Amino acid sequence: MTQPFINTPTDGIAIRARGVQKTYTGAGGSAPKHALKGVDLDIPTGTIFGLLGPNGAGKSTFINIMAGTVIKTDGSISVWGTDIDDNPRQARANIGIVPQELNIDAYFSPRQTLELQAGLFGVPKSERRSDEILEIVGLTEQAHTYARRLSGGMRRRLLVAKAMVHNPPILVLDEPTAGVDVALRQRLWDNIRALNEAGVTIVLTTHYLEEAEALCDQIAILNHGQMITNQPKDQLMAGASRKELRLSLKDGSMHAVPDSLAAIGAQLHEGGLAVRYDPSTMSAAEIIAAVSAAGLEISDVSTAEPDLEDVFLELTGG
Ligand code: ADP
Ligand code: MG
Repeated sequence: MTQPFINTPTDGIAIRARGVQKTYTGAGGSAPKHALKGVDLDIPTGTIFGLLGPNGAGKSTFINIMAGTVIKTDGSISVWGTDIDDNPRQARANIGIVPQELNIDAYFSPRQTLELQAGLFGVPKSERRSDEILEIVGLTEQAHTYARRLSGGMRRRLLVAKAMVHNPPILVLDEPTAGVDVALRQRLWDNIRALNEAGVTIVLTTHYLEEAEALCDQIAILNHGQMITNQPKDQLMAGASRKELRLSLKDGSMHAVPDSLAAIGAQLHEGGLAVRYDPSTMSAAEIIAAVSAAGLEISDVSTAEPDLEDVFLELTGG
């Protein structure tokens, strides 16, 4: 690829948002929807950045504002150093966006689709990389097939390819693996990692937490239109207050949790017990004592680190 990119922002910020608000005016007399309530966000250059949040949090709204398909109500966003209001054309050239909806041109082949898109972005014929991009996303064999014949996973990858034709330094993927089967998901993750290694800043939204945990260096969480956290993934996971203690029991499998243990949050886990607890209010020793007091003999003890799902639920309140 033709990296490194020119005009890399000297402040190291690929996308900067300040006070971004979006209110959708209610159609047909319905109440207005305050989808973004003053979002501030800095996305560093060179990262794989995860924008997470439950359905309806405002993720697509934020991305569609950068894509120019939704007009924000207030605030500012700059993309690779260019303000989207001051110079929308340049801002759009700085970013490739893969929208959540699978809208493709059914009667064009993948190769024609990429050539058309390159034309729209004014990429000269000599600088086009359609075949190389089709290879990257694994669509070489389908290069001349009508897009309407492609599977859902192939369409998704075609949209990724389409977002890459003008060689933008930032690639944004809105729910990239929704509806993509497991094998292809792995392949798409590999593509994303390879692009990032080539210097592309990646922003992805997902409500699939395993994806964020596998891919992202940094994670922001949006909830009800407000940014509730933005930190390196490792730091986010380390700051999780919940831990889990797992206990195997001597007398085989357990089928019901005694009331005294249910009261401290114990649940059945692989024939034994698992207790999620906040170490600032309860200790592992107290849990073990409670289990012994319930007349159960412990044969083994292990701990589990919280995963991103635990952190997410803790921060978004379920
Ligand atoms: P996410 O991508 O995080 O699931 P969205 O940005 O799609 O969230 O939606 C945020 C909120 O804005 C939701 O409550 C949604 O119903 C509302 N919304 C999104 N698009 C529109 C629209 N075109 N008109 C009215 N409300 C909308
Ligand atoms: Mg969405």
